[in-house]
Amino acid sequence: MGDENFYDLIIIGGGPGGLSAGVYAMRAALKTALIEKGMPGGQVMLSAEVENYLGFEHINGAELSMKFAQHAQSYRLDLIQQEVVALEPGLAHHTVRLANGDLLQSHAVILATGGSPRKLNIAGEDEYYGKGVSYCGVCDGFFFRDKTVVVVGGGDTAAEEALYLAKLAKQVYLVHRRDALRAGMILQQRVQAECKIEVVWDTVMTEIKADKDGVHAADLENVKTGQRRELATDGVFIFIGFLPNNHLVPAGTRMNADGYVVTDEKCETNTPGIYVIGDLREKYARQIVISAADGATAALAAAHFVETKKTADACEAPADLFTEVSN
Ligand code: NAP
Repeated sequence: MGDENFYDLIIIGGGPGGLSAGVYAMRAALKTALIEKGMPGGQVMLSAEVENYLGFEHINGAELSMKFAQHAQSYRLDLIQQEVVALEPGLAHHTVRLANGDLLQSHAVILATGGSPRKLNIAGEDEYYGKGVSYCGVCDGFFFRDKTVVVVGGGDTAAEEALYLAKLAKQVYLVHRRDALRAGMILQQRVQAECKIEVVWDTVMTEIKADKDGVHAADLENVKTGQRRELATDGVFIFIGFLPNNHLVPAGTRMNADGYVVTDEKCETNTPGIYVIGDLREKYARQIVISAADGATAALAAAHFVETKKTADACEAPADLFTEVSN
């Protein structure tokens, strides 16, 4: 393999975490490649508005993504637009296989492939994403002040997000497919006590409807009675689980029961030199600022790892030049 395909650090994923890692890695003078199959920016790219990233009171998600990418590229980060098909850890170096057949190798790897919200897969869900359909109350709730919203799901996330949205919205309907919430008891009690939340039991959403101004209604169906109703609403928030994009996580890497990678405080996995950051990493909250912080942490840790490894490689025991002589 030529030197051009050997890096100090390879970053997989070009969201806020990966790009932030890129900035820190380049500033640490690491020979770095960032591989992203689509446009850099990650999930932020899909957010209509961002109002909680420090320094930007109000910015369009696509614009913020572009700023992240431009910042990273200003350091001449090697941005490779390709899909990664495998990450193979090794003792001497790690290998990254690309969909076009290329092989790249590096001392350290930062995996920043994020996650994706589980979808309902109903009519209108993809079409009206960002126009009234959302998967993030903290990101988009502010746009529904004094409006009516529907939250779908019955787990901890749906309950927490419904409670968060109740602080902003005029009315929140929590639509759940069963007659009991999966959320923990404390959250259930809070939901029941919040007069702005009405739980719609045993019900699934079958379609989201919109006009030129955005979402205006959702079709619901009671799974026990078969009764179908249309509910007027300004927004639909879907929280039916989040799926970590962990398909590249090497076998033997420590993950929790939900498929998130467990790391130490340096974002390093149980495989030396492999770091996991952002939404793929087990953590308390998933926000742009937190992914960016993970990126900084992992790149600084990787810089130390690479430097130590290079020093150790250079100091390998010299060939044995001694021969025994008889007296
Ligand atoms: P979750 O616990 O898997 O709950 C998903 C919810 O969505 C369930 O109520 C499920 O219904 C419903 N659902 C799934 N697929 C559906 C579909 N196709 N149509 C309609 N409803 C559907 O996911 P989560 O709430 O995102 O939580 C993920 C993990 O993070 C959990 O372990 C949770 O405890 C944890 N978490 C903890 C906290 C906290 O402790 N503060 C906060 C957030 C998340 P069923 O109930 O019928 O299966």
